[in-house]
Amino acid sequence: MTTKNTNNASKLANEKRLATMRANLAALEKRCEAILADMTGTGENLTQQQRADLLMLVNVAYHDSGKIEGCFSIDSCAACDFCQHMIASAADNILVICGSCYAAADAWKEAAWRRHKLNARIMSSVLFTVDELKALLIPGQLCRFNEDGDTVNTTMARNYLRIVIGHPHTNFGYWYKNAPAVAAGLAAEGYKTREDLPANVRFIHSSLLIGFPAAALWFDDAIFTVYPDAETTAAAILAGAHECNGRRCRACGYTCYLHARRQEKPLHIAEVLRCNKARREAARAAYDAKKAQIAALAG
Ligand code: SF4
Repeated sequence: MTTKNTNNASKLANEKRLATMRANLAALEKRCEAILADMTGTGENLTQQQRADLLMLVNVAYHDSGKIEGCFSIDSCAACDFCQHMIASAADNILVICGSCYAAADAWKEAAWRRHKLNARIMSSVLFTVDELKALLIPGQLCRFNEDGDTVNTTMARNYLRIVIGHPHTNFGYWYKNAPAVAAGLAAEGYKTREDLPANVRFIHSSLLIGFPAAALWFDDAIFTVYPDAETTAAAILAGAHECNGRRCRACGYTCYLHARRQEKPLHIAEVLRCNKARREAARAAYDAKKAQIAALAG
């Protein structure tokens, strides 16, 4: 067979594989929408079978390589309403980290993207019970919420909290930016103090602005902030922040999942922005300008 024929055969095989994948994904999406079409409220009227069928459509991923190698994840999607709103708001402010979203840049990974979108659709629509959520198979010690995307609404936050309760042998790292949704979810589930929180979850509050740590909320275990360049990241680490810097989580001992629950102050974690030179320079200039503005206001 000539090289040209081999290339054509490989292209055809790839197109066939993609067509099959898309047909399978479309069938899952259709099944989900058919069930949700019958729904009222947060799904109280759905039958047990319909609710179980929806949970069968939720994708729990195991990562056998990459940054969170050794962990499971339950993802939302950067196409969710919250992320899309934040990405749009980044158009006017380069410091909004969502404009540099790694997950949105990976949108070409169509299968994962569409499965995550389906997760977001289901988890933000139907409120499941702890017992129902036990059906999600997480046969490991570590699981991350929202490697992609964010908590869309209170219902999703409540489902995540119930997953935590239903999987007591797994430690969860709950990454979030949508603070009102997570706070409302905690309140709706009856959590009021740090002592009330389940022992097997750590809340990682991901700062919205590059270089500016989010104000800590009562339930935060860590504040995760991306800095514009090596200099500002090093300064944050020197000031006491834990260094993430794109390391594999295994290499840092899975700090975000396993560190002792904070008593007074949350752990600060610093990571350098991953981007090209032009974007880095623009982000650093905006960071310096905002710092100067804050200093002027202070005094
Ligand atoms: S601080 Fe450690 S556990 Fe957390 S994201 Fe970075 S490498 Fe992973």
